[in-house]
Amino acid sequence: MSTRGFEGLRAVVTGGASGIGLATARLLADRGADVVSLDLQETAGPPLTGVLADVSDDESVRAGVAKAVDRLGGLDILVNNAGIGAQGTVEDNDDAEWHRVFDVNVVGMVRVSRAALPYLRRSRHAAIVNTCSIAATAGLPQRALYSATKGAVLALTRAMAADHLREGIRVCCVNPGTAHTPWIDRLLAAAEDPEAELAALAARQPTGRLVTAEEVAAAICYLAGPDAGATTGTDLAVDGGMAGLRLRPPPLNEERS
Ligand code: NAD
Repeated sequence: MSTRGFEGLRAVVTGGASGIGLATARLLADRGADVVSLDLQETAGPPLTGVLADVSDDESVRAGVAKAVDRLGGLDILVNNAGIGAQGTVEDNDDAEWHRVFDVNVVGMVRVSRAALPYLRRSRHAAIVNTCSIAATAGLPQRALYSATKGAVLALTRAMAADHLREGIRVCCVNPGTAHTPWIDRLLAAAEDPEAELAALAARQPTGRLVTAEEVAAAICYLAGPDAGATTGTDLAVDGGMAGLRLRPPPLNEERS
């Protein structure tokens, strides 16, 4: 397997100004791709280029994708990563909040994909990777709305993979567990006892620690890259074993590393 492998490939990463998106944009660039981040916020400087766009606004998305493609001279890889959180049970958010979060997390991916597809069809190596979540495959407390959006992202990923297979466009997603990004820092800062909250989040994952943004980025790059040519419609868990493993409690005298 090549360590770079992305020379000559052109990528757009939504939400590329922070966390998982920023780590992905950096890794793609390190491996030789030309990368533009589409984000509400300014993106870190060279080699990354940022275009300001709001995935919840179709006009902004169309203008942003056109600008990004203009800069890149085409498009081979789309990483649909921008997303927002929501807390609570099904009783805790009103209709407006349900629509707002779906509008970013699900329809946002639809808008960016719709704008990108005409360019991806012209690529000889076309791939879309969506950032989904462990919340799509496991029932987490206090995450009804967020989980519903990520369940939709998982179904959307498979449907898009079927629709665009014969056009030579692969579509996959990653399902991160709790990953230590500025998002989680904000969540911890709002917690009554941030240290206890961090320990609880880490303990929920069989590895006993949070996932790193770089680990999720590596999975996204694998799915987006030439080495994954036979992989489409796949969801790849990057969750410290959270979705699939059922461990026995550690022996009382065993220290966890
Ligand atoms: P983050 O908050 O660090 O970064 C998200 C980025 O998305 C920000 O730069 C933000 O400006 C951008 N963004 C938000 N709304 C946008 C909009 N309307 N238009 C354009 N850009 C917008 O978060 P993160 O933890 O890196 O999360 C990235 C993705 O990973 C999200 O889809 C999230 O659901 C998913 N995810 C995160 C975790 C985790 O534990 N951090 C776990 C599973 C899945």
